[in-house]
Amino acid sequence: MDGHCDILIIGGGMAGLSAAAALAAAGQRIIVLDKGRGPGGRMAARRAEIGGEQVGFDHGAQYFTAHDPAFLDTVLVWEMAGVAARWPAAGEDAWVGTPGMNSCVKAMAETLDVRWGVRAERLERNSAVWRIATGDQSFTAATVLVAVPAEQAAVLLAETAPELAALAASVSSAPCWAVMAGFNARLPIAADTYRSDTGPVSWAARNSAKPGRSGAETWVIHASPARSRELIDLPKEEVAQFLLADFFAATGAAARAPQHLDAHRWLYALPQALIGEGARFDATLRIGIAGDYLHSARVEGAWLSGRTLAQAVLQERVASTS
Ligand SMILES: Cc1cc2nc3c(=O)[nH]c(=O)nc-3n(C[C@H](O)[C@H](O)[C@H](O)COP(=O)(O)OP(=O)(O)OC[C@H]3O[C@@H](n4cnc5c(N)ncnc54)[C@H](O)[C@@H]3O)c2cc1C
Repeated sequence: MDGHCDILIIGGGMAGLSAAAALAAAGQRIIVLDKGRGPGGRMAARRAEIGGEQVGFDHGAQYFTAHDPAFLDTVLVWEMAGVAARWPAAGEDAWVGTPGMNSCVKAMAETLDVRWGVRAERLERNSAVWRIATGDQSFTAATVLVAVPAEQAAVLLAETAPELAALAASVSSAPCWAVMAGFNARLPIAADTYRSDTGPVSWAARNSAKPGRSGAETWVIHASPARSRELIDLPKEEVAQFLLADFFAATGAAARAPQHLDAHRWLYALPQALIGEGARFDATLRIGIAGDYLHSARVEGAWLSGRTLAQAVLQERVASTS
């Protein structure tokens, strides 16, 4: 046995860590499992070397908003800790992690027991105890919370919590190809961001212009859902070339060879048919789900969903002991 806790959370993205933080604050023993090598989930950041310098790319979420007062309070704490800053280029209400988009998630994880590089493969329930198999390890807990993208939650929950699995399976997510390009000189594009609702590039941002970044000129380019589907199974090297050409055509800048070029395919980037109930907890089976797909397809939605699930777990605990 590799771990026993009160509540095991599968998925250490914004939703899972938001739930974990609220439950740990209420005195629960929590373990979070995440299959990723490090913090971020869809708020990931990647490093690369350009001209002997380390630079970063935010290849998932580009910025986030904080309209909910409780989330804004949390973001202000992150700002004071130096892991978030406003980014007016994306809007008056836009924030980014500093020095990378994953910095906020990283800061949250530092205060929790998060096991990175551990993929939950199977859930079993015997005598009111959950057993979570992860390949070479296994964990037990009284309660399990699943905070992974809808499609992955549906697979994980299919055998042991079919109702939650069906709910998650009702959501489908749009894919997104993200290209990371670095240049040895500034591109002749005045604005730091580009958006389009109709073209092949839905979003592009001068990553190097975000607060807390330094070094070479870097851009992150996101393909629209339609363009991403068109290129879905191509090798990433080809996709990067196609989308770089789309980007130069869209911005009108003369094409220039990058010093660094890479691409990442997000298969489940943005949930399309949102459920909107925030989160769901099955108090009989002691299992729940959270994630952006249950609230809104944003960082803020994921944080609120995690918090809603934590509140449902805590309320049920109070109800069952009174
Ligand atoms: C390309 C792109 C652009 C975006 N742009 C924006 C934006 O500009 N603004 C904004 O607000 N939002 C944006 N979003 C959306 C935002 O990133 C998400 O809404 C939010 O990060 C989702 O958080 P989450 O915790 O629900 O899911 P995730 O961040 O996906 O976290 C789920 C975690 O579960 C882990 N996991 C999955 N399966 C398992 C398993 N079996 N075992 C263990 N761990 C597992 C994953 O490794 C991951 O870390 C964007 C997303 C993408 C992909």
